[in-house]
Amino acid sequence: MSAPASSAADAAALYALQRAAFSAERYPSHAARRDRLDRLASLIDRHEPQIIAAIADDFGVRPPQETRLTELFVVDVALRHASRHLAAWMRSRRASTPLYLRPGRSWIERQALGVVGIVSPWNYPVQLALLPAIAALAAGNRAMIKPSEITPSTSALLATLVARYFSPGELAVVNGGADVGAAFARLPFDHLLFTGSTQVGRSIALAAAENLTPVTLELGGKSPALIHANADLAALSARLAVGKLLNAGQTCIAPDYALIPRQRAEALVQALQRAVARLYPAPIDNRDYASIIDERHYSRLVALLDDARAKGARVIALGTGTGPAGGGTRRMPPTLVLDVSDAMAVMQQEIFGPILPVETYATLDQAIERINARPRPLAMYMFGGSATERRRVLEQTIAGGVTLDDTLWHFSNENLPFGGVGASGYGAYHGERGFLTFSHQKPVFAQSRATPGRLLYPPYGERFEATLRLLKRIV
Ligand code: NAD
Repeated sequence: MSAPASSAADAAALYALQRAAFSAERYPSHAARRDRLDRLASLIDRHEPQIIAAIADDFGVRPPQETRLTELFVVDVALRHASRHLAAWMRSRRASTPLYLRPGRSWIERQALGVVGIVSPWNYPVQLALLPAIAALAAGNRAMIKPSEITPSTSALLATLVARYFSPGELAVVNGGADVGAAFARLPFDHLLFTGSTQVGRSIALAAAENLTPVTLELGGKSPALIHANADLAALSARLAVGKLLNAGQTCIAPDYALIPRQRAEALVQALQRAVARLYPAPIDNRDYASIIDERHYSRLVALLDDARAKGARVIALGTGTGPAGGGTRRMPPTLVLDVSDAMAVMQQEIFGPILPVETYATLDQAIERINARPRPLAMYMFGGSATERRRVLEQTIAGGVTLDDTLWHFSNENLPFGGVGASGYGAYHGERGFLTFSHQKPVFAQSRATPGRLLYPPYGERFEATLRLLKRIV
């Protein structure tokens, strides 16, 4: 296929190609897998300036440092981790064999599934397309990526680069919008990993169910930052601000809202004002602070603030700048929302922008109830608290993943599985967990010539009864 793939027909043709390629190599050697990972590493390494430029073109402003850290470094870490551990991940695992099956032996093989589909969103358009691909290729699969149409420059570059470094039967990109995405999700993949909104995730899971294709759903949600009464506000304010304002809040695991004891809310506002003034002075002009991706999302965020204001919230912009906000530039200052209530849209929907509502609580039990009253979030953050209080919150709330005394970092540890729970998704990847997501763990039992199993064969009678009595005694 010479022209870039961009239609449902292209996706179907690529799928057929990948299916045939997999049939010709169902268990790629360690060397073949390493070679694919190495080529992905070269792709990232040699084209860093182009990738940074494409993402900046799509966003308007996307600080190169943020792209280097959150896309290129993160992909590099995953590649090195997978390369280092690949041989160990590929090895079969011995399983113990109970007495009644001995002298037979048991083990578990890790086998590639076949052809994997990956549907990715716009907010980290390289990282969220390539991290699942690393796991799929390491596990010996073929993979097809459908990136977001909202980042056309990055998605086009991804297609060009992938076609340069991989045969279409190994790894391929199909570009297009919701229609291509819907046709893509109907292909009979051996596994489909979707990262994006809950609403689209639901339709992906429904389409995949037609083929009994297993799905991993990496969705979003309202991730709380729970601040205990004893937390050090000066210390946490920068960590909370950076977690919220990285990529201008367009991060699936960004702290969506803060929960703080009522009497400390004003002190938190002041601490955040100081932190934001230091980290992102004059945010509207600041090149270290990203733009909102498009007009639709910009208007959505403005509407969230208007709705909150109309329902009695106090809205505080943390710094401005000389340039115009909104109006084509899509620059939105970091904004706090106080005196919030559940009636406000900002407390009902995932914000996905640089707006931080501050909700107050009287007792820790009440804070826990507030978190549990909402759909299960992708992440939860907690600052301060005694060991007992922290244990209580960890046991009494359910979230995809947790960072304590900071934000976001749990995502970057390849030794931790990453994924949602409940409304924030199901399944997980990263590191070995990603390798297993795209593998079949095939149990094997090897019977011994000396098996006593024939004692249980018909014709049934006293021999069968005596053997079963004996087996019951030795289990
Ligand atoms: P989205 O659901 O609108 O789009 C994601 C992908 O699905 C895009 O490639 C899009 O083209 C495709 N798509 C759209 N409609 C489709 C359809 N009907 N059928 C098949 N495919 C379709 O999401 P988005 O706006 O790109 O991303 C933002 C969302 O993603 C937020 O909710 C965020 O929390 C979530 N997210 C989650 C993670 C995570 O790791 N869990 C990471 C980043 C973003």
